[in-house]
Amino acid sequence: MSGLNPPQAEAVNTLSGPMLVLAGAGTGKTRVITFRIAKLIKSGIPGGRILGMTFTNKAANEMKERLEQMLGAPGGKQQNKYQKKKAAGEDPNTPTISTFHSLCVRILRRQIDKLGYPLKFTIYNRGDQESLARTVLRELNVSDKLLAPNQLLFWIGHWKCKSMDPRQAELASDSDAQHLAAVGYRRYQRQLKLSGAVDFDDLLLLTERLFKEHPDIRAEEAARFDHILVDEYQDTNTSQYRIVKGLADPHRNLCVVGDDDQSIYGWRGAEVEHILSFHKDWPDAKVIRLEDNYRSTEAIIEKANTLIRFNTTRHDKVLKAARPNGEVPSIRQYSNETVEAQETVYDLQRRLQVPGREPRDFAILFRTNEQPRIFETELRKAKLPYILVGGMSFFDRKEVKDLLAYLRLLGEEPDEISVLRVINTPPRGIGKKSIETLLNHAISNKIPLWDMVCGKADRPKLTTPTNRGLDQLARIVEDVAYQDSGRSLVDIARNMVEATQYRSELERIYSDPNEFQTRWNTVEQIVNAVAEYEERAAKPRLSQFLDKLLLGEQDASDEKEKQLKKNAIALMTMHSAKGLEFPEVYMVGLEEGILPHHRSLEDERTVAEERRLAYVGVTRAEERLTLSMCLTRMKWGKARDTLPSRFLYEISGQAEHPNYLKACRPAKR
Ligand code: ATP
Ligand code: MG
Repeated sequence: MSGLNPPQAEAVNTLSGPMLVLAGAGTGKTRVITFRIAKLIKSGIPGGRILGMTFTNKAANEMKERLEQMLGAPGGKQQNKYQKKKAAGEDPNTPTISTFHSLCVRILRRQIDKLGYPLKFTIYNRGDQESLARTVLRELNVSDKLLAPNQLLFWIGHWKCKSMDPRQAELASDSDAQHLAAVGYRRYQRQLKLSGAVDFDDLLLLTERLFKEHPDIRAEEAARFDHILVDEYQDTNTSQYRIVKGLADPHRNLCVVGDDDQSIYGWRGAEVEHILSFHKDWPDAKVIRLEDNYRSTEAIIEKANTLIRFNTTRHDKVLKAARPNGEVPSIRQYSNETVEAQETVYDLQRRLQVPGREPRDFAILFRTNEQPRIFETELRKAKLPYILVGGMSFFDRKEVKDLLAYLRLLGEEPDEISVLRVINTPPRGIGKKSIETLLNHAISNKIPLWDMVCGKADRPKLTTPTNRGLDQLARIVEDVAYQDSGRSLVDIARNMVEATQYRSELERIYSDPNEFQTRWNTVEQIVNAVAEYEERAAKPRLSQFLDKLLLGEQDASDEKEKQLKKNAIALMTMHSAKGLEFPEVYMVGLEEGILPHHRSLEDERTVAEERRLAYVGVTRAEERLTLSMCLTRMKWGKARDTLPSRFLYEISGQAEHPNYLKACRPAKR
């Protein structure tokens, strides 16, 4: 337990009861959680009785690695295959380190039938949600002008984050568009349920509901653990808060750590109140404060403190740098975003010459998802390895979506979205009109679409080629399913690729051999991911693999890519950088409208949240921090003048500057 200061040691050595660690960035909160789990295990608590909650998969993996270093790999160094399998399954000696979403999937896979969903439910990703939203709006005869699918999803997400069901949403609606969205929400939920599917937000909401409506189930799930530790507690939303409370109630061994100054998910329903009122739920909670920042140099901490002080309603905290002095962060102005990207990459190349510096020591942080593209281009030109963290790009690839949809058809109750995705991919003569007829028939007779494909239910009147196409699809799935009984998952995946003749389809679409190869590699990567999953899982199941892939727990890139990723420059949003640290950080695009984001400008509270986001960014840097902005930026193909972010004035002590006021009060347009 060396390497802990006195308050950290106190937190780590307090082995029972409720506890709150409220402390600033880089003060060792995550370290406390990790050490405390190790300490609990060393004191004789079986690892399997401990649940550690993190905010992202990356954080979960890092915590697992740290624990392994401290405790030795589960099963000792020389693991045989059996032990390896056991370690990855539900081993009584391995703590569960999980994100909220993954935990909820596990609970729902055991219990969701109590809410009338099948245990083999499907999880919809964003693309699936969009298709469903489109279907719902079509059924309601709502045109895109009145309410577009994305707007409907925006409102649904907004309500779900606040734990509101369709009825509550209807009551809370005060505009026509909202009323319409609330009606859409109801229908969307019903349609999900009919398809045996849930979306990401449902994972939390349904778990919350399950606990509320079935106290016995809550008790059963709570009884799996004796200790719960939650990192980044300031960002829990109402559902997450209730789930944690429900799980911790019986044993009361709940340790949460967080920093109200780093609360950056208000827009997703997180309420900083949960951390600030922790003592209301747990009046005997021990509260520990940490003040020494071990991450960053004094020069960086000084900037961070200066910046966050501009937030007026906050709990004042002390943050002292344990590392004295350091290089003063620099602010750079560039003429436009191309120059910003070029110069940033140029600076990076120069810094990589410093002995000991490696690509993984650097991060480029941005606010919006439009920003990284140009940096990617420059990094590629410079042949520097980089990784776009949190980019869901793998799932956006058509091949991935197609193959996963096919694999989902092997489930017991294939969902409509998956069926629609592959019904005519590769083409088998089923036209839009026929699909419409099928859908209408499905809706009016309340029968699942798949039942009509596979012959479990009667089809409406269709043309002969359409019927033939449907039979063909049914046969593909049947054949693979038939061959599969008792076979390995990799075989299933391979058989599916073969049965669908996906390769010839790719050859047909992509005449350019390079393009074809890239696409075909993607398919191969999925098969590899299945193999890798199967190797590690205790009881491999296709549905679990799909869950893991969807939740981002399972990586689907190939070995070469993985090695590359391990030592690559990180390109990510400030949101996904939370909790991480890098020797050198570039924060780019610090302009009004980007950071603070234009959607936040109307309200002081949302601007304050943007300031916390900037604070998160600044406090990621260990030794060197570069802030940059562009004087002009392209908008709809035209270069437009920008205003420097107000945060730049604040951080550099220029809040008296007349331009600061200008930045704070942008002309209303
Ligand atoms: P954040 O608010 O950004 O999540 P945190 O409070 O979780 O930060 P950690 O990530 O746990 O902070 O710690 C920050 C860095 O300081 C890590 O590199 C950690 O190893 C180091 N550190 C923490 N405590 C100590 C200590 N007592 N002695 C030496 N290094 C420490
Ligand atoms: Mg942390």
